[in-house]
Amino acid sequence: MWTEAETGILVSEMKKAYPAPECALNFGNVFQLLIAVVLSAQTTDKQVNVVTPDLFRDYPDAASLAAEKPEVIEEYIRRIGMYKTKAGNIVAAAKIISEEWNGEIPESFDELIKLPGVGRKTANVVLAVGYGVPAIPVDTHVFRVSNRIGIVNEKDVLKTEYGLMNKLPRETWIDMHHALIWHGRLVCKARKPECESCPLTGICVHYNNTNT
Ligand code: SF4
Repeated sequence: MWTEAETGILVSEMKKAYPAPECALNFGNVFQLLIAVVLSAQTTDKQVNVVTPDLFRDYPDAASLAAEKPEVIEEYIRRIGMYKTKAGNIVAAAKIISEEWNGEIPESFDELIKLPGVGRKTANVVLAVGYGVPAIPVDTHVFRVSNRIGIVNEKDVLKTEYGLMNKLPRETWIDMHHALIWHGRLVCKARKPECESCPLTGICVHYNNTNT
């Protein structure tokens, strides 16, 4: 049974390991953040950062993107997965943002998830990273690492998100979300976690189950 003391150790070790954790996507404003997160589905942030400089140079805001044909946008993002669907989604989302929100990104979960290509995780990233609203977007890293460590023991992302919200102090949600992502990328890797260089061996359920 995961304890409050273990949560305290997890938060403090993550703070030490990742003192200023940040989003790995490059963006200049909340609109660009939203577009970058939509583009990042099923692909890496690194790949997205390769295509967004040209895209954001030529389409820096919702109005300019809304006025473009998806086929033209496809050429900008061709290097990332599902580029046709994503091009259609971001142009359609830009139209709604431009026409219904005067170019501003809504600061509301319920409104964000109405936008094409925007699901629960994307909406939470926009709220947390773009507006500083406490949220825990659960991506593949957050899901894997938090279930391995044992702070939650869930089979799906929604239950993992609720479990983390329940266990972690609200003021840590945004930083812990970033820290868990970085920990998943750098140490607790999908195929082979590098437990020998991990500060969480004392509390990690996966480690303790496989090293007893
Ligand atoms: S001890 Fe190993 S399995 Fe546990 S969090 Fe660290 S790297 Fe991941």
